[in-house]
Amino acid sequence: MTAALQEARPLVAVRGLHKHYDLRRGLRRLVDRPAQHTVRALDGVTLDIRRGETLGVIGESGCGKSTLGRTVLRLLEPTSGSVAFDGVELSTLDPAAMTVMRRHMQIIFQDPYASLNPRRTVEQIVGLGIAIHARNTAHETRERVADMLQRVGLSPAHMRRYPHQFSGGQRQRIGIARALVVKPQFVVCDEPVSALDVSIQAQILALLAELKRELGLTYLFISHDLAVVGHVSDRVAVMYLGQVVELGPARALLKSPAHPYTQALLAAVPRVEAGGGERQRLQGDVPSPLRPPSGCRFHTRCPHAMAKCSAIAPTPVMVAPGHAVACHLHEGAPA
Ligand code: SF4
Repeated sequence: MTAALQEARPLVAVRGLHKHYDLRRGLRRLVDRPAQHTVRALDGVTLDIRRGETLGVIGESGCGKSTLGRTVLRLLEPTSGSVAFDGVELSTLDPAAMTVMRRHMQIIFQDPYASLNPRRTVEQIVGLGIAIHARNTAHETRERVADMLQRVGLSPAHMRRYPHQFSGGQRQRIGIARALVVKPQFVVCDEPVSALDVSIQAQILALLAELKRELGLTYLFISHDLAVVGHVSDRVAVMYLGQVVELGPARALLKSPAHPYTQALLAAVPRVEAGGGERQRLQGDVPSPLRPPSGCRFHTRCPHAMAKCSAIAPTPVMVAPGHAVACHLHEGAPA
């Protein structure tokens, strides 16, 4: 393959990704109708993650954001669909090959305390990935851990301490060090600042941006906070009930959202500046993924719903270069 073609290839290519959970085991008596057996956490997600970009993913709780991140990394096995990392289809890899691949694909979790083993020292926590993926001596491992701690704003003197001896922001720095010490190319940041005080959030976001620049990383950045996603992302994907309903350049999408759901999300956040006149606020709760609405899944809450919206699922159309929307209102729109 030529260099030009390789450059055009996304780092991560997600195609028709589904993740369904069958609830029949143990819940047979509670959910006795066949259609209610399956939770459709992801239902046909297709997107590219370009090398070097931050792709933000937003949506309400339960929309499938975190499931997407974990399924892309194959921490969850997909029900169907494909994920290719740098051209390699992950579903074809056996466990040993997947372990090797994981060095390139890491995750930073939301809750830094819950994700750190309280019985292990920082040196053991951060050094574990090196032990799995590299054949370093104990001395080399210690040096790499010390270097990584300094990069994330901690001190090598912290290596012998335990997670409970750190603040929330420091614990997230340990989580970041653990993810990056194996030198990955791609990192899923799953609500990495949601559990932190607002004053600490900005420090961690600045650190993630700095490390991305220095180490040439690619991020899938998952958050329910539009302001955070707008701040860090090059492009944004908006998810609703397991599907991507809008995807485009962050600035354009947040300034001129095309999907009624994105418009409603923005209307609920007054501090996010977004032009485009009057917008309807979001009404009601997200429907159950056990019984997603027919047609467009947003039709039960959409102020613009038409007769066909409950019958026919919209397919994505381009409303501007690189800006796709799945909504009947935009069918026939010039790209
Ligand atoms: Fe609303 Fe219909 Fe568009 Fe769905 S397809 S977002 S219900 S207008």
